[in-house]
Amino acid sequence: MADTVNHPNYTLCDNERLLCSTVDKLSNASHLAVDLEGANLGLAGGSLSLISIKDASESTSQAYLIDALAFNAEQLRPIYDLLESDVVTKVMYDGRMDYSALYHEKQVSLKKVIDLQLVDIKSRAIRGEGADRQLERLNPSIRRKELELNQRLYTRVQKLVGLGDCLKEHDVPGSKGGVDHNEWMKRPIPASHLQYAASDVANISLLYQKFLENEYLGKVSTEESQRYISMWRDKTPSPSDRYRLHAFLPLNIIEYDYGLTKTCEGCARGLPRSCFSATAWNVNFQELRKTLSRLSCHSCTNAGFQVGLPRLSRI
Ligand SMILES: [Zn+2]
Repeated sequence: MADTVNHPNYTLCDNERLLCSTVDKLSNASHLAVDLEGANLGLAGGSLSLISIKDASESTSQAYLIDALAFNAEQLRPIYDLLESDVVTKVMYDGRMDYSALYHEKQVSLKKVIDLQLVDIKSRAIRGEGADRQLERLNPSIRRKELELNQRLYTRVQKLVGLGDCLKEHDVPGSKGGVDHNEWMKRPIPASHLQYAASDVANISLLYQKFLENEYLGKVSTEESQRYISMWRDKTPSPSDRYRLHAFLPLNIIEYDYGLTKTCEGCARGLPRSCFSATAWNVNFQELRKTLSRLSCHSCTNAGFQVGLPRLSRI
């Protein structure tokens, strides 16, 4: 039997016959682990290379790696239909780049997603983490002195973790390797890259099964996941956009506040009062621009002013 953790089985779909049989098999699943690969995936100027899909409920199931360059849009339509389906749940880990690539490059809107990165954050309280640990996670991204001085600004800022660290934190026996992401557009796709892509969806499946077992999944709604993955629907982030590529959970994704919004000068999202300091909310941005560089939401304040923030574009 294949090593389902480190060397999961996969089928590379690069001809129509294989694509048809793959669609038939995947259509029977209720939950699909989905992950996309590409060069600067989801960023301005980026390109989609591969769509990896696997039945999330079956540890031993095949991963299907669909070569997006081998087919035209019409041929890929049955796969796009699955991604846009309101019936089949897509299980993802930080689906923001994937959504951005599909939406902006292929005019495909991912739907019915459960994003395990959000589930991880919600599980922290269930695992007994309190306010102290939530702040502690922000260091060293935010300096300890700043956290002590302005603690109230950070009570709603959550540190995101990448898939590899998340597997470790939840004692899931997967591992996250690394490949040169500049090589995703090469054909034939290097075997190391195919193995990496297959491992990613296998890891997502294992994490999904663990969260299911621990009853964490019900803590995140599909609305929260949809809000998260589609947050760059307005435009693809530029590769140097520090306000969109930082490692903090953007505000107003979970703990959603309705009401009046103001546009953050960092991430350019319309956000409610709770996301800004009193100064940033009350002042007229035009007036104060003369003296302050930016008036941003709590997440962007640090994305803007801290040096050396970890980036999340490839975790
Ligand atoms: Zn912001």
